[in-house]
Amino acid sequence: MDQLETMTCSRCGGSGHFSYNQIHGTRCYGCNGTGKKYTKRGAAAAKFLSDLRSIPAEQFKVGDLILYQGISHSKFVRITSVEVSRAKDQGCYSGDGEYQQVKIQCEGGYGAYYRPGNLVRKGCGAEMKSEQLRQALAFQATLTKNGTPRKRAT
Ligand SMILES: [Zn+2]
Repeated sequence: MDQLETMTCSRCGGSGHFSYNQIHGTRCYGCNGTGKKYTKRGAAAAKFLSDLRSIPAEQFKVGDLILYQGISHSKFVRITSVEVSRAKDQGCYSGDGEYQQVKIQCEGGYGAYYRPGNLVRKGCGAEMKSEQLRQALAFQATLTKNGTPRKRAT
């Protein structure tokens, strides 16, 4: 198998369409209109791959690509500054009234605040991506159909 394991979406039977609603039109939300879904094993491997491609916010450097997740679209943008600072609690967090934040600014006016330790997707080259996929596929191969690690034969 050379890709993450998928199966036909049972909600729409693989057509990608389902009954009309105002938000999604006829796009099936079981599969996001693709007609396919990850199997449990494929989903576990996809999570593994996503973690592999993510690093804590504070480890990003100027020049890295970071995934900006907007409301309607997401895309990779190049970082122009990374700043770790302490901020006053605005009532969102409990504790000593201050917390650390990572402010990342990017080309094109994109920017966001993260908590240290937050995992964020990092952009990388095609070679790195295929190596990461290879690792995810190797991981997938160790899982049972239910997406749990296979018991090691003794
Ligand atoms: Zn579907």
